[in-house]
Amino acid sequence: MRTMVIVGSGPAAFTAAIYASRAGLQPLLAASSVQAGGELMNTTEVENYPGFPDGILGPDLMARFQAQAERFGTEIVHDDVTELDLDTGVKRVQLSDGTVHECATVIVATGSAYRKLGLAEEERLSGHGLSWCATCDGFFFRDKTIAVVGGGDSAMEEAMFLTRFAERVYVVHRRERLRASHIMQQRAFQNPKITFVWNSQVTAVHGDDAVTGVRLRDTVTGEQRDLDLDGLFVAIGHDPRTHLVHGKLKLTTDGTIAVDGRSSRTSVDGVFAAGDVVDPHYRQAITAAGSGAAAALDAEAYLAALASPAPDGEASSIRPGQYT
Ligand SMILES: Cc1cc2nc3c(=O)[nH]c(=O)nc-3n(C[C@H](O)[C@H](O)[C@H](O)COP(=O)(O)OP(=O)(O)OC[C@H]3O[C@@H](n4cnc5c(N)ncnc54)[C@H](O)[C@@H]3O)c2cc1C
Repeated sequence: MRTMVIVGSGPAAFTAAIYASRAGLQPLLAASSVQAGGELMNTTEVENYPGFPDGILGPDLMARFQAQAERFGTEIVHDDVTELDLDTGVKRVQLSDGTVHECATVIVATGSAYRKLGLAEEERLSGHGLSWCATCDGFFFRDKTIAVVGGGDSAMEEAMFLTRFAERVYVVHRRERLRASHIMQQRAFQNPKITFVWNSQVTAVHGDDAVTGVRLRDTVTGEQRDLDLDGLFVAIGHDPRTHLVHGKLKLTTDGTIAVDGRSSRTSVDGVFAAGDVVDPHYRQAITAAGSGAAAALDAEAYLAALASPAPDGEASSIRPGQYT
């Protein structure tokens, strides 16, 4: 039986693996067959990850995460987890090739998928003027003209944040009124740099090497027109990847995996969760990495308590800080 299986391969999973392998837990990390490396594989320059003053390409950063985890003995399998059996004390993790790994602890770090527009150009232009994260990429658009697609609170937040850099921010929304809360709408309406483009749907993104504009379709008249842009931010929501744990772990109303306070402990003993799959707010590489570290430490404390139970015999009575 294994001590730990980590599901995922983004900053949270690899950081959990670095901590767990340095603690001698010899984790197995299931990295996914097609999307190993997580969301940062879809971007170019990452300028806000500490330790890289000149920035680093997303895939290069993830290669470093992986190398560091492997250096301390993390075993990596490039396969998807298809089934988790979390009921019993011994957890069972099934891979798509049918292999089943029994283990004492599981860390779920499957991330969260940004919703896409569903256009063919999206993947090609991701990181080349097309982004899902204003906090990450706004800085690259100083004095530029950009558009945000969406009509909810997060679209308004992204648009307002982007006005710190951009000269003009269009908010493209397919209806004639926003879904955003009243207060967010008011703030966006009052911002002189924001222009609303109502009843409009993006049907194509123009640009060979970088975004140069979009094709818009009027959702009422069906008319098409082009809008010249330097960048496009898609803010139409995100879906925490919780399909493996539906009905097995408690979820929050945001759809993320519920954890106990600031810990990574889920509703099932021995199962921990980290990164964007637990985080509806921050969704950054550094916060995911920090949360992965916490998950490994929580799992380590759980295992230590299993090995030498407290007088009441309850492993779940462990609280953060006990591992120091
Ligand atoms: C285009 C883009 C640019 C970004 N730029 C920045 C930036 O500059 N700075 C920054 O801090 N943040 C940035 N972010 C956000 C950052 O990428 C995420 O916050 C971070 O990657 C979350 O890490 P995570 O480990 O929680 O999940 P993820 O990175 O999403 O990784 C989760 C992994 O788990 C895998 N997985 C899912 N299900 C399974 C399964 N069943 N079996 C095996 N594996 C599975 C997925 O395939 C994925 O590889 C960006 C995001 C995007 C989309």
